[in-house]
Amino acid sequence: MNPATLSVPSSTHEVLNQAPALRDYNLFSSDPALSHALERENAAWARSRLEELGRLMGTEELIRAGFLANENPPVLHTHDRFGHRIDEVEFHPAWHDLMRHSIAHGLHNLAWTEQKPGGHVARAALMFLASENEAGHTCPVSMTYSSVPALRKQPELASEWEPYIRQSIYDPRFRPVHEKNGALIGMAMTEKQGGSDVRANTTTAEPVDGGRARGEYRITGHKWFCSAPMCDAFLVLAQAPGGLTCFLLPRWTPDGERNRFHIQRLKDKLGNRSNASSEIEFAGAWARRIGEEGRGVPTIIEMVQHTRLDCVIGASALMRQALAQAIHHARHRKAFGRFLIDQPLMRNVLADLSLESEAATMLMMRLARAFDGRDTDEHEHGLARLATAVAKYWICKRTPQFVNEAQECLGGNGFVEECVLPRLYREAPLNSIWEGSGNVICLDILRAITKDPASLEAVLAEIRQARGSDRRFDAFVGPLETELAGSRDEVHGRRLAEHLALALQASLLIRNSDSQIADAFCGSRLNGESGRTFGTLHTPIDPEAAFPIA
Ligand SMILES: Cc1cc2nc3c(=O)[nH]c(=O)nc-3n(C[C@H](O)[C@H](O)[C@H](O)COP(=O)(O)OP(=O)(O)OC[C@H]3O[C@@H](n4cnc5c(N)ncnc54)[C@H](O)[C@@H]3O)c2cc1C
Repeated sequence: MNPATLSVPSSTHEVLNQAPALRDYNLFSSDPALSHALERENAAWARSRLEELGRLMGTEELIRAGFLANENPPVLHTHDRFGHRIDEVEFHPAWHDLMRHSIAHGLHNLAWTEQKPGGHVARAALMFLASENEAGHTCPVSMTYSSVPALRKQPELASEWEPYIRQSIYDPRFRPVHEKNGALIGMAMTEKQGGSDVRANTTTAEPVDGGRARGEYRITGHKWFCSAPMCDAFLVLAQAPGGLTCFLLPRWTPDGERNRFHIQRLKDKLGNRSNASSEIEFAGAWARRIGEEGRGVPTIIEMVQHTRLDCVIGASALMRQALAQAIHHARHRKAFGRFLIDQPLMRNVLADLSLESEAATMLMMRLARAFDGRDTDEHEHGLARLATAVAKYWICKRTPQFVNEAQECLGGNGFVEECVLPRLYREAPLNSIWEGSGNVICLDILRAITKDPASLEAVLAEIRQARGSDRRFDAFVGPLETELAGSRDEVHGRRLAEHLALALQASLLIRNSDSQIADAFCGSRLNGESGRTFGTLHTPIDPEAAFPIA
């Protein structure tokens, strides 16, 4: 039949009542909680950088890059066409775009290059913005930032590698580092038989020529998880003659040969799909020791402490992006004759989510300030030690439930892949699993309290600063202190972690936020006035204040 003869209506209906896409907005200037925290935690000097990155990460182009990088996951090439091992991973150009912007803004090095106070705070806020856009690419960025304090345990290695880390140039070429303009560092600890329990590592390290003068070793064994395998070098744990030891293992040897770092396969993951996470084998790979033999855990823990801070940042950012999407949708979508944002029940859900998000952002930024002061101030040192674990446990645990609730605010649209929320939802559990899963973090909290009582004193001193301002707060903190003074049984680890986190968040909100927000937090989180789902505040706050753009 001739199509021209068909009488087809040009459309069946008008598209109505769909929210416009949230794009071309500034992620930083639309976030009052982040902006206030930046001032308060000593990094106001970084405002223009944040405005710039906030604008970039909210552009349609970079939002699209986030989608593309996840829809086109990395591809492993183990061999070239002639059968030689190459062990290279190919990424979509969108991944490289995201990396280029994040590295150019110093997300991997700002805290180490900036001389002004507030370097870790400024960097945390920048990292937060990039994570809101796309979480996967922040993995190598985070590991590079975190590697520096561990590398510094071996000054000659730090002096070789830090100059490359300090460059804010993303150089994805797979070449020996001295031919490159910048370097990225990863981490490989987890093995098949044990991740949390790294002492069970079976990978071995043999000193080269039996001599230990330059700290050169040959590493043989495997790692069950090794993310971002295209990094230039990795901090690796292996069993040396003197016990579990930390090494720097580059992808190229000093002779300009590919190191014997073989990528077996890439993991097929629930989320974090833009990022390559691999299984690898070391077939006598060349590496150099960091720190003393047998001191592997205390050495690499310096790195882990910083990646845990980044888990807090990453989880808080997922919450924030989910909240922005939910408020935006509710402002534009009508049901039963009224905008969703004006429906009392929806308002309560959004209010409760905004409360949770603000509490997370505030704790994350306070924690980042503790990292700024931890080498020079005892209080900050103690806070960084214990509050990192407390915040990681609680904020990461809250994220999946939070993102799901935000998704529900969009109804069916929140479940469809064209919207960012399904990606946020798949990403949400990850920060809780890696860098110490929930129980392991709780055991770390108990260890810190027992072995480093100054860290508990620091956290309690921080909490106590709000004492006398709210009866519910006082009634919550009193028994918590009594409990902390008594038995620290493992079985109660999660309850203790949760209570410490809530007390810290409440103290920060009481001291620094609007009194209605602090009141709603204490009423809902500390004395059980509210229910177990979001949206059960006794007196809802104004959710729109959290995202004041039309
Ligand atoms: C996407 C992704 C990327 C990753 N990338 C890397 C990477 O780049 N480098 C790297 O080294 N690792 C990486 N990991 C590994 C990750 O850090 C580990 O999976 C994690 O530390 C947990 O170790 P495991 O999987 O061996 O679990 P296990 O250690 O077996 O733990 C399983 C469960 O038991 C709990 N548990 C353990 N001990 C105790 C105890 N004493 N009491 C009570 N409960 C306990 C844990 O909390 C956890 O819930 C990655 C993981 C994922 C998912």
